[in-house]
Amino acid sequence: MGQIKPGKYELMRNAAAKKMKSLLRDALLVVEQDLDDEIKNSHTFKIVTGFGGTKFVGLGDGRYWGGGTNLWAADKSEAVLVVAEGLQECLMEVLWVLWPECPEHPFGLHLRADAEGRAVWLCKSEGAHIVAPVGQLKTVKQEDGSNGDN
Ligand SMILES: [Zn+2]
Repeated sequence: MGQIKPGKYELMRNAAAKKMKSLLRDALLVVEQDLDDEIKNSHTFKIVTGFGGTKFVGLGDGRYWGGGTNLWAADKSEAVLVVAEGLQECLMEVLWVLWPECPEHPFGLHLRADAEGRAVWLCKSEGAHIVAPVGQLKTVKQEDGSNGDN
């Protein structure tokens, strides 16, 4: 087995890894807007790098769930989707918190990409309804208090 000198390929790989991390970090800022104040006030979150360069959403104190999906995204919309999933997994597996909950039903929300590839929160109750795009869950929750029925 010949030794391969770190060269062009290595540098390209490092640059790609850096780019991926900043893509995921930006996505985390979007996803965090959907967090309940209670969680937000007691925890911080970050993108952590595990063994072999795998990336996860972890807690600011370094805890993360290594059984989660390795975060990888081709673009911003995809990054928001995978990071939202990662944060959901982190909250569930590390803190045992079910997040987020539908503003109308007592159920946890699921992630989907809509027709334009945008990440949205989906509630599977009553034939399934889209609650909000990821990052805008709180605007829906606030509106919800003012009018009773839809
Ligand atoms: Zn619902």
